[in-house]
Amino acid sequence: MAEIFILILYMYMGGKLMDDYNSSTVYFRCNICDFLFQEDPERFPVRCFQCGSENVSRA
Ligand SMILES: [Zn+2]
Repeated sequence: MAEIFILILYMYMGGKLMDDYNSSTVYFRCNICDFLFQEDPERFPVRCFQCGSENVSRA
């Protein structure tokens, strides 16, 4: 009984982690230096890794 509960919990956690992974990062392009990078869109401010500018757009 306990094993079944753990298995269900594991599957639930695994599916949640997979969803988080799929939606966590998107591509952004810097409007200053044209550098393309991946970042979590929920993280603000999104900064260019190369020049540190916040002037970026989703690619
Ligand atoms: Zn830049």
